[in-house]
Amino acid sequence: MWPILERLRVEAIKQKESAAATNSTTKRGESGVGSANEIDTKPKEKEKQTKRKRGIYINLTQCKYDTVRTVAAQRGWLEDEDDKGKKNLFTVYWCDGAVTKYRVAQLKNHQRINHFPGLEVLAHKTHLSQILNKMEKAFPSEYNFMPKTFILSRHVEPFRAYCTTPNGHKKTWIFKPSTGACGKGIVLTKDPLHWANDFDDTVVQEYITNPLLIEGKKFDMRVYVLVTSVRHLSVFMYNEGLVRICAVPYQQPTSANMDNECVHLTNYSINKEHPNFSPGESDAGDTGSKRDFRWFNRFMTENGQNPKDVWADISDVIVKTLIAAHPTLSHMYKICFPHSNAGFTCFQILGFDILFDTQYRPWVLEVNQSPSLRGDTPIDFRIKTGLLQETMQILNLRLSDEERDQDLQQARSRARLLGGKFEAASKSGGKHVKTHMAVE
Ligand code: ADP
Repeated sequence: MWPILERLRVEAIKQKESAAATNSTTKRGESGVGSANEIDTKPKEKEKQTKRKRGIYINLTQCKYDTVRTVAAQRGWLEDEDDKGKKNLFTVYWCDGAVTKYRVAQLKNHQRINHFPGLEVLAHKTHLSQILNKMEKAFPSEYNFMPKTFILSRHVEPFRAYCTTPNGHKKTWIFKPSTGACGKGIVLTKDPLHWANDFDDTVVQEYITNPLLIEGKKFDMRVYVLVTSVRHLSVFMYNEGLVRICAVPYQQPTSANMDNECVHLTNYSINKEHPNFSPGESDAGDTGSKRDFRWFNRFMTENGQNPKDVWADISDVIVKTLIAAHPTLSHMYKICFPHSNAGFTCFQILGFDILFDTQYRPWVLEVNQSPSLRGDTPIDFRIKTGLLQETMQILNLRLSDEERDQDLQQARSRARLLGGKFEAASKSGGKHVKTHMAVE
């Protein structure tokens, strides 16, 4: 679990204003340069560059979330407004969508980006099923936390065969598009063979018919996990998150109720449209259709469960899922940085969707690579800003990292000219750092 960190009380808005003032001064200076001849402009260009306020810069030009903006400003980070960070002057690049390996490979050692290349291995349901099925074959008693899943594009015949066995017969199945989200395109059925040929990039999964219920309703948990390195696999689980409860009481699946999404699917985007959905009155997280983990811990205790044991089980399935994806993720990282990279360029917040059955057994349903960071309700705002504060704290960014990076770059260039191994000495935060590095 992450420690609960004290909130920072940096006067963020003031910092933002002073950054804006610096920018506008620079712009005014620029307009005068246009009329000068070439010899005059050069020193002014240089002056303009040196005028950039010293600080940690975050580029949010591809990020729509105000929560990220707010928390970055609270930390005193400045906004790099360069569109898509093309000039590469930021310390952190934070975007909502996935990134390509080419984008990541451009980054310098001190820079950070909030996505790992190749993360589809977790986020696409077909890839996730593939790696977890493979691990289940090798370690059946360790990797049995994803409901039985078939990838239709590859395993339609084994699926058909399974459905005719005594085990597979009469089960309820859920069809899920591989890259689907928010419950879109999901079909629940007891007659899977009727559907098996109708889907393309889809998984079909055994439906958990005995979910744990809260006040008679099905729910799932959104657990936030931060990965800060795949080279030195580092994973943090946030100790707050969302319990998302259906709007309508649960019923065992029958042909009469299987189309009722608010009975069977816990997605917020579906249930919020139902008149019974209750947003909760405050940010306390103990009423309504969305609750927090503090409340869930009390719920478990009241129902005779030890929250510590349940959380140990949850972290176990999360770590095992990440271990299954690790070879792909570290391979992709290595492709981006074949040489001289400390291993901390990428970080990512993941949203694990976990369902419990009546035995409090956690089932991994899916992993979201861009979980919503929207703070549109009080509980969302509290949980997501808390998550972002901890994330930015854990990144532990220091201005001296950039200086050290520049020193190392220079040393590496010198070594390239001279050939062979080199020893780079750099000043970092007043401390003298020595780094030995082999030349590529
Ligand atoms: P999406 O990415 O579209 O949200 P999910 O895999 O998260 O797809 O499924 C949507 C919802 O359907 C889940 O939040 C859960 O409530 C329900 N669900 C999905 N898979 C199962 C399953 N195997 N058993 C029971 N319920 C499931």
